[in-house]
Amino acid sequence: MQFTVLGSGAGLPSKKRHTQSYVLDSVDEINQYIMIDAGEALQHRILHTGIKPSKVRNIFITHLHGDHIYGLPGFLSSRAHQGGEDVPLTVYGPRGLAQWLEVTFEISGSRLNYPLEIIEITHGECIEMDGFKVHVHLLDHNIDSFLYVFDENDKKGALDPEKLKRIGLEPGPAYARIKNAETFEFNGETYHTADFTGPDITGRKIAVHGDTRVITTPEYMSLLDGSDLIVHEGTYLDGEREKAHRYFHSEITDVLENFKSINYGSLLITHLSNRYEDGFLDELEAKLPSNVYITHDFFEHPISRNSQGNK
Ligand SMILES: [Zn+2]
Ligand SMILES: [Zn+2]
Repeated sequence: MQFTVLGSGAGLPSKKRHTQSYVLDSVDEINQYIMIDAGEALQHRILHTGIKPSKVRNIFITHLHGDHIYGLPGFLSSRAHQGGEDVPLTVYGPRGLAQWLEVTFEISGSRLNYPLEIIEITHGECIEMDGFKVHVHLLDHNIDSFLYVFDENDKKGALDPEKLKRIGLEPGPAYARIKNAETFEFNGETYHTADFTGPDITGRKIAVHGDTRVITTPEYMSLLDGSDLIVHEGTYLDGEREKAHRYFHSEITDVLENFKSINYGSLLITHLSNRYEDGFLDELEAKLPSNVYITHDFFEHPISRNSQGNK
């Protein structure tokens, strides 16, 4: 599994940073790319990657500010011509998303040739999708903005060939049948598959924020605790904490301070203002803990298992 930042900028695009779009590459797990936000020129960013639009089956929109959604109608329209015909797609997002998309498609005469479902979300709900449960939490922005926590389902442990050999069952086609069954028979005996597998594999947890001020409530902190990856905005990186608060955004010092009390694997800082020069960002990153990254467009971060805990 890998997290890719397609657009790392805040508000206005620049030549280097497009506005916000992310992709959670879960092709190895569920044969899908999960998209989070769809900033302007999303389609152009995808052209530089190996992402197949037909494999995007679920899109999660954090909030309805233009820098997070203006690429969505274009992507949805083009997807049909990129192998997505008849392949269903669900878009989750705040109230108003369905109306905006319906009016846009109607006025522009766009017709999709695949089933599109638009689901408007609310704080506190849990969405069940292939391979994941997705927790929804309201953030603190000047319009409704949401955090999505992708909780990968635990997987059954792999078969242990050594244990099977002990009862005389050698590797072969029977292993595939046993793996998917609760019990199996061999030489007239009935066995429980669970006695021949390793421990269950714990799913990973990826927390992706929309725009927000720093939040410190116990409910929010416990939702994030144990994340393998946290993606959080850092619209302000230069100490302007008061300004960040006034404009409903975050300053990086506060973000880092807040997460000191929880365990997490890595932290990606995104949604960066294009007023910051590369030199400033390089110097800043050198001062940060080694598991905190200032991202750029096309930044890729593999998400390994059991990576929780401050390094
Ligand atoms: Zn934004
Ligand atoms: Zn915003």
